[in-house]
Amino acid sequence: MSDNFLEPQPLGVPCPQCERELQLKKGRYGLFVGCSGYPDCDYMTAADFDPGTNVICPACQQGKLVQKTSRYGRSFYACDHYPECSYSVNLPPVAQVCPLCAFPVLLKRKTAAGERLICANHSCDYKSSLK
Ligand SMILES: [Zn+2]
Ligand SMILES: [Zn+2]
Ligand SMILES: [Zn+2]
Repeated sequence: MSDNFLEPQPLGVPCPQCERELQLKKGRYGLFVGCSGYPDCDYMTAADFDPGTNVICPACQQGKLVQKTSRYGRSFYACDHYPECSYSVNLPPVAQVCPLCAFPVLLKRKTAAGERLICANHSCDYKSSLK
């Protein structure tokens, strides 16, 4: 155990895998969100996890897109009905309907000039104006 060990902080949010409470924990690579059921449940996601942004999966329309962290430490958003549904996106999804193609999910893209929403439908090139 390292010197700067932090007591896990309960988040009041159920684990998407086992429904036990999620906790903010400090690990070898910094803060992360993990399941209080660990080691029975090894659910883990990034510390900036925002449970309020859950967006219904546009592919299966049953799952929700949840934030995950790849083995390279990058966050992405994948359907929680994985492996039945393998939909995933690399940018934070927003539950807003595209004004061009009516796709139900837009993605938040940060650029040097500001933040804009782009359509999650690959065949649509909708971009909102910069905020
Ligand atoms: Zn769990
Ligand atoms: Zn899905
Ligand atoms: Zn669109």
